Amino acid sequence: MATTVEASLGGRDFNLVFEAGIGANGGLRNGGVSDRLRDRLVREEHAKLHRQGWSRVTIVNLQPFAVTVNLGELGVVALPPASENEPLQKLVIKDYRFSMRDLGDGNFTPVSILPSEIAKEVVREYGETGGVFWYEGDGDPKAADVAAARERQMEWYRKLYQQGVDSWSRYHQHKMLTDRQRDAARALVRSGDVAELPEWVTMTRAQSDRRPCPMCGEDIKIVAKVCRFCRSTVEPFEAAA
Ligand SMILES: [Zn+2]
Repeated sequence: MATTVEASLGGRDFNLVFEAGIGANGGLRNGGVSDRLRDRLVREEHAKLHRQGWSRVTIVNLQPFAVTVNLGELGVVALPPASENEPLQKLVIKDYRFSMRDLGDGNFTPVSILPSEIAKEVVREYGETGGVFWYEGDGDPKAADVAAARERQMEWYRKLYQQGVDSWSRYHQHKMLTDRQRDAARALVRSGDVAELPEWVTMTRAQSDRRPCPMCGEDIKIVAKVCRFCRSTVEPFEAAA
């Protein structure tokens, strides 16, 4: 169930980024003093972190969609979607990473990025969905934290569902709806908050783009201005009364 960071955080580490020979690309000066300076800075930064220590973190995804955050040179953090069989996806980040800071004179200095900073970045992007959170350590999440996240997630679903309902009654068009809104409707049906799936989830796109002609009752496109069966001019579709 738990995916480890080695599997999905595929970034290069500082030493690879600063490998001799890619200086021109990376903007790092090669040779002489810079090489020695670079090696010293890397050693110092490693030593500092090992003195201070750092915490492993776990990121949790309760959402039915994948969580993916591209951290550029640090790699991609990816958690698979939660499902009925695996309602809780975990990603443990064990190690810090190195990034580089441009010193502005063609030199770079190593900067450590702690696991907690990576986790915060993921939650910055997905936190509003309620179902993504992190904690220190690599143990199991506290039941209370999972319950709180599920409650925030349900609030988010209710908000999305209401947006879907409003959009559908106003426009009656699938293209105005998002997969997130459909996911929200399914989740609310599963939880019993909503009695049944709305037609904007169950209807196919082709079905929803049609309506009966108000004059002859034949099936016509929702955007049609003239019925192709009886040639009546029909009013543009209005929100359901
Ligand atoms: Zn007609």
